[in-house]
Amino acid sequence: MSNASLDWSNLGFGYHETEKRYVSNYKDGKWSEGELTSDPTVTLNECAGVFQYAQTIFEGLKAYRTENGKIVIFRPDLNGERLENSAKRLEMPVYPKDKFVEAVKSVVKANADMVPPYGSGATLYIRPYMFATGPVIGVKPSTEYQFRIFTTPVGPYFKGGAKPITIKVSDFDRAAPHGTGNIKAGLNYAMSLHAIVTAHAEGFDENMYLDPGTRTYVEETGGANFLFVTKDGTVVTPKSDSILPSITRRSLMYVAEHYLGLKVEHRPVRFDEVKDFAECGLCGTAAVISPVGKINDHGKEICFPSGMEEMGPVTKKLYETLTGIQMGHIEAPEGWIYEVC
Ligand SMILES: *Cc1c(COP(=O)(O)O)cnc(C)c1O
Repeated sequence: MSNASLDWSNLGFGYHETEKRYVSNYKDGKWSEGELTSDPTVTLNECAGVFQYAQTIFEGLKAYRTENGKIVIFRPDLNGERLENSAKRLEMPVYPKDKFVEAVKSVVKANADMVPPYGSGATLYIRPYMFATGPVIGVKPSTEYQFRIFTTPVGPYFKGGAKPITIKVSDFDRAAPHGTGNIKAGLNYAMSLHAIVTAHAEGFDENMYLDPGTRTYVEETGGANFLFVTKDGTVVTPKSDSILPSITRRSLMYVAEHYLGLKVEHRPVRFDEVKDFAECGLCGTAAVISPVGKINDHGKEICFPSGMEEMGPVTKKLYETLTGIQMGHIEAPEGWIYEVC
């Protein structure tokens, strides 16, 4: 597809095939020299481990066009590190994070004409992933894997301003204690699909999952971490071993403390504290922050003072500062921005 046919501001979040993707195969205990290919298809044996026992992990990040026309990526070293941790937990081979960063840069560079223009609000989404390709029928890790990275242009997450969303406290669990909640694995998403389809059918935008052990602490949503602001302006994010460590959330905490001079707390958050917070947002690569206006707990509503019309004031400052850093008009902390070309 040529970029001339794309209407950047109306792209949405979907798959548009781009010219090149990166592929490296793992066999006989080592990774092949990775390469860029034009072939978007993957052909696998019917017994591949990914089909039988769901050995598959992924990452998600974006390439941005800055004001001066450069293409940059945001903290890809942290995605590389997280993919290493995901691989270890599912007994998959580690794809070294330095090679990961180089691979991400090469695939973005090869699709540079698909990085949307500055100011369009659109970005090039990057999806690195790894899956078991070797045949497995007895339950054990595969001995062969493929690591792949494709890119797809995505539209602005918020069209016409960030309207707060309504979420429900889910009766389903996202992750078991001591399970796989803290890694980015497809299996965590497969079992969240019924919960999100159910929530949508009931008119909610997202699910809030509580800790499955006691149902008293806030965990996260299906694909984003929570961020709360107290009435006196402290930024609070839930801590738990089964929450996926969001890079956006970690970056926002740094911005809150070092750019905005706010107090920050990363600690277990009881669900019964939530009604006392002034603002609530969901953080992840896709939206940076989605403001939450209302939480429905089995019919009982928690309405944040920031309301259903716009982001709360602290959430907005955080959003503007981090997106300013990503787009290159606010100076970034050392090592956050990787220039591709
Ligand atoms: C990817 C993901 C996030 C967000 O992480 P970012 O690094 O900020 O994009 C949050 N929760 C879950 C479950 C995720 O898979």
